[in-house]
Amino acid sequence: MPNKTNGTDPQTEYRKLPSVDLLLQEPAIAVLSAEYGATHVTSTLRTLLDEARTAIANGDSAPLPAAWATGLEVRLSSASHPLLRPVINASGVIIHTNLGRAPLSQAARTAVQAAMFGYSNLEYNLDAGARGSRYDHSRALLRELTGAEDALVVNNCASAVFLILSALCQQKEVLISRSELVEIGGGFRIPDVLRQSGATLREVGTTNRTHPRDFSAGLTERSAALMRVHSSNFKLIGFVTAPTLAELAEIRNRANQEPARLDSANDLLLIDDLGSGTLLDTRRFGLTAEPMVQESIAAGTEHGADVVAFSGDKLLGGPQAGIIVGKAGPLATLRSHPLARALRVDKMTLAALDATLRSYQRGQALDEIPVWRMISATPESVRAIAVGWAQTLQAVGIACEVRTGESTIGGGSLPGETLPTWLLALSAEENKNFSPDQLAAQLRAQSLPIIGRIHANQLLFDPRTVLPEQADAFVAGVKELF
Ligand SMILES: *Cc1c(COP(=O)(O)O)cnc(C)c1O
Repeated sequence: MPNKTNGTDPQTEYRKLPSVDLLLQEPAIAVLSAEYGATHVTSTLRTLLDEARTAIANGDSAPLPAAWATGLEVRLSSASHPLLRPVINASGVIIHTNLGRAPLSQAARTAVQAAMFGYSNLEYNLDAGARGSRYDHSRALLRELTGAEDALVVNNCASAVFLILSALCQQKEVLISRSELVEIGGGFRIPDVLRQSGATLREVGTTNRTHPRDFSAGLTERSAALMRVHSSNFKLIGFVTAPTLAELAEIRNRANQEPARLDSANDLLLIDDLGSGTLLDTRRFGLTAEPMVQESIAAGTEHGADVVAFSGDKLLGGPQAGIIVGKAGPLATLRSHPLARALRVDKMTLAALDATLRSYQRGQALDEIPVWRMISATPESVRAIAVGWAQTLQAVGIACEVRTGESTIGGGSLPGETLPTWLLALSAEENKNFSPDQLAAQLRAQSLPIIGRIHANQLLFDPRTVLPEQADAFVAGVKELF
């Protein structure tokens, strides 16, 4: 907004700056006050005046009187976008942590809307006409789908792990393999979480090789649990070994037969932090096996974990949540711990989770849950979409091509694993000589930002991760570039 004419006298220019009160009396600014709120307009005017003073100090002249209202409007409207905005994810990363992880299913969105509309039976038992528990809603479904005796939902998997360690292992030892003392991301480090929970870490084995006997040898009367942490976001390859869950369960079973532990308050537990966890077998889609929740529980056998934690918004494809399933005893302790109250989830989360779980119950997860629809989409179906987009864009003179590529799962699941896909590629040279960085920045600046990825001087878009509901907006957004 500063008026660039050098050689002006700063004192004269300062005197030309109007007061906030005078500006507020301008009819055009009064209109903006009514639209954006008087306080917001006043503070924005102060900012603009400060900026004008700085500009004058740097040799500029004062803005022209007519420029204030327009400058104010530009500033107000550019700051009026909601902070959290929808974007189109054409990056090919299915569970994109920076883009909000799992998109919700249609059923989950509808359920959230219904739950937030007004009052609900969140903690009210409609049959009895009396107080109910918010945990009852997803409990039965989670028990049915995982085979666990009991289930509890908290804010996210990180808080689930924290609650488990705080409630079940405080002032006692937790045995973890040195290969699993991991950082999940966002500063969530297993050794730190353990310390914070009041439990003591007992490292066993080595970085690359840990044997069942390392766990047996590490047991003391202070041991509360054996813990397995899934190496979600990295892969150890080469000379590596780790005990299976069944081997750990065997060690737990034997320890619990020892005379010192026959007192049941002191049962050794097997805790399994699955991170992503999945209810469907990822091997069906050419991926390696991501641990399945049902396998960790191994209902009715002595080979399963006592307590299992996994995320609601990774491979489950639902809302952000931490799901804890397992044996009735430890779950009852978790539910009555004060931290459970601090980590409780709200009604919108429970509504979305319930609707998501029902898709699994109906056997419709692959069709209804976006994450699974994307994982199970065949390369041919992705190619058909890419070709359709290319034809539409070429028809209006935009140079693009369809080529093969790879989609990734993301979200700290299945590191290094990819799905073969087809991409729409815009080459910079053929399109007004824009660099891919410039094109990408322009797409991000649109009112519905589009996120692609850049490779070998091309801007790439993967139809696999674009929601069908956003496909038309995607094509319109790319057209708008040119
Ligand atoms: C992702 C992950 C977590 C944290 O889950 P959030 O739902 O993001 O809190 C914890 N443990 C493991 C092994 C993970 O992969």
